[in-house]
Amino acid sequence: MTLDGVRTQEMFEGIDVEIVKTTLEQGEKLEEHPVYTKYWDPNPEIRREKIMPFFWSIMKSHGCIAGNRSQGSSVMVKNKHRFSYPGYSEIFTGEAHDDEVASNDMVQSPFKTVFEFVKEELKLPKEKVAAFASWGVTSFIAEKVPGSITNNCGNAKYEHSDKDERVKLLNDMQFDTLTLWEELRHDSFTHQFAMFHLKTFSPNLMYIGYGETDDWAHEGRYDRTIDALVIFDNCFKELWTFLQSSEEYKDCTILVTTDHGRGDKTTDWKDHEAWIDGAQHIWLAVVSPKVNRRGEWKPDVPIFANQIASTICQELGLDWKKFNEKMGHPVPL
Ligand SMILES: [Zn+2]
Repeated sequence: MTLDGVRTQEMFEGIDVEIVKTTLEQGEKLEEHPVYTKYWDPNPEIRREKIMPFFWSIMKSHGCIAGNRSQGSSVMVKNKHRFSYPGYSEIFTGEAHDDEVASNDMVQSPFKTVFEFVKEELKLPKEKVAAFASWGVTSFIAEKVPGSITNNCGNAKYEHSDKDERVKLLNDMQFDTLTLWEELRHDSFTHQFAMFHLKTFSPNLMYIGYGETDDWAHEGRYDRTIDALVIFDNCFKELWTFLQSSEEYKDCTILVTTDHGRGDKTTDWKDHEAWIDGAQHIWLAVVSPKVNRRGEWKPDVPIFANQIASTICQELGLDWKKFNEKMGHPVPL
């Protein structure tokens, strides 16, 4: 799973009160601002749990997370661009391709992705490898060969929507529900289609790309950026509850990360570009039955986003070198 453009600050330390101050109306007191009253606590660990209580409870009981810069833990993108297509491409292909992948345009991935490799290696039908995302461009990033996998990103018809009345309604409604920009779909639709697909087709590998954390940040709506994280926490709880109820999935591996960070300062937190300091910093959460580490984790050397695809291969028992010898090595978990 990815949460688009979530900074390490909000992930590990909760709300950034300096940013909240910049959003105050004239005469409005910080102590009365709803973001402050709902999410402030002087302790950063309590603060972050006010936003994502379920996520942090799972990190304590079943998972681990790297990237807390204030603890000297480092996870970064390898690509120099620090925006979405290069970030997702690095995650999906295991390599940063700075020259070939240098825009957010709707162009097909020039490189094979981990989704296509897994499908081929395990000789799976397309329902068994699925990518759902709120950002439409993700459908181009997820495949080199269009139609290789179940690919449902942005406002796109979910092809199995006729199997369930509720999903059929959501499928119709997504096209009548306007978002900030053309190529977006609300995360609630993405999540529900993904959940239905998971329960109905039991994929071996599934990706869910949530996007609203980034959209609201670009709009300068810090309150809704935080709300989008709260909504993700509910989605994660729903997903986790299903996985734990399933014999097939209760020991599955879950990776959660982001495609880029954002600016560190109150003046550039909305942005993420090659020249924005802070936007190179990301984070990585891992839940795996093979990993005993719990809570926060400080790797010996920085982890890069280009190590995620080989980690996925390894978790599925596949030889990542057969995919691409040049990709980042699996994360030492
Ligand atoms: Zn992004």
